[in-house]
Amino acid sequence: MSTTAPAAGARKPRVQIMLSVVRTERLSPHLVRIVLGGAGFDEFESNDKTDKYVKMLFTDIDGHQVTRTYTVREVNSADKTISIDFVVHGDEGLAGPWAAAAKPGDVASVSGPGGGYAPDPTADWHLLAGDESALPAIASALDALPATARGVAFIETYADADVLDLRAPAGVEVRWLLRGDRAAGETTLLADAVAQYSWLPGRVHVFAHGERGAMKQLRDVFKHRGVTRTQLSLSGYWAFGRTEDRFQAEKREPVGVIEPVSD
Ligand SMILES: Cc1cc2nc3c(=O)[nH]c(=O)nc-3n(C[C@H](O)[C@H](O)[C@H](O)COP(=O)(O)OP(=O)(O)OC[C@H]3O[C@@H](n4cnc5c(N)ncnc54)[C@H](O)[C@@H]3O)c2cc1C
Repeated sequence: MSTTAPAAGARKPRVQIMLSVVRTERLSPHLVRIVLGGAGFDEFESNDKTDKYVKMLFTDIDGHQVTRTYTVREVNSADKTISIDFVVHGDEGLAGPWAAAAKPGDVASVSGPGGGYAPDPTADWHLLAGDESALPAIASALDALPATARGVAFIETYADADVLDLRAPAGVEVRWLLRGDRAAGETTLLADAVAQYSWLPGRVHVFAHGERGAMKQLRDVFKHRGVTRTQLSLSGYWAFGRTEDRFQAEKREPVGVIEPVSD
C-alpha cells in the first residue's frame, strides 16, 4: 500500500511506502538493526549508492508529521526486506526511541531512497570517516570496495562494546575512536585522527558524515590537505542539541552551512 503526499519544495510527489518490522537485532549497546518488509517492499526502488537513505515518517508530540532520515544498510531482494541500523541515543527524539522499542508487526512509513555517494573505482585510495550515525553508510561502502582497494575508515563511537566486526578489504584499515564518557557530538576525535594520519599517495576519495560540528572540523582538515570538492562527500547527519527538524531548517542559516572546500 502506498500514499502520496506533496513534499515541501520537491517537484515530484513523495511516495510513502508502508512497511512493517519483520525482526530486530541489537548489534551493540547503541545500535539496533530493524529489518522491514511486507507488501510495500515491491514499491521500493533501490539505487546503487552506498549511502542510500530513506525518510521515515513519525508523529511528534504535537501531532505533526515529521521525518527522520536513515541509511538503508541492506536491501535483501530474496527476503524482500530492507535493514536500517538506528543509533539508540537515549530517551530524546522520535526515531531513536522508536527503534529501541520496535517489535515485529510495528508499522514504518518510508520514502525514497535518495543517495549521493559510492566509492570511486578510479581513486587511488579511500578515506571514510564518521560517527555511529554514519556507520551503516561506511559499512556499506566497505562492503562495496574491491578486494584490492586501499584506504582507512575512522569510526567514532561510545566504547569497546560498540565496536563491530566490519568486513573490509585487507588494504583498508578500520580505526575505532572511542569517546568514552564524552557526549556524542562534543569531541574532536575524528578531525584529530584524520589530521594525524599519514595520508597515502595518490588521489583520495573521501566520505565523511556525522555530527555537524565534527564535520566542520573535518572540512578544515580536508581543506588543509587540498582535497577538492569532486573528491569529497561531506555533510552533517545530525547536530548536537538539535532535533532533525531544527537541524534541517538550519541548513538555510549560517550555523547550518558546512562551507565547501575548493573545486
Ligand atoms: C542522509 C542521512 C543518513 C542517516 N543515516 C542514519 C543511520 O543510518 N542511522 C542513524 O542512527 N542515524 C542516521 N542519520 C542521523 C539521524 O537522522 C539523526 O540522528 C536524527 O536526528 C535522529 O532522530 P531522532 O528522532 O532519534 O532524534 P531527534 O528528535 O532528531 O533529536 C533529539 C535529540 O537527540 C540528539 N541526537 C540525534 N541523533 C543523535 C545521535 N546519533 N547521537 C546522539 N544524539 C543524537 C539530537 O541532537 C537532539 O538533541 C542519518 C542522517 C542523514 C541526513
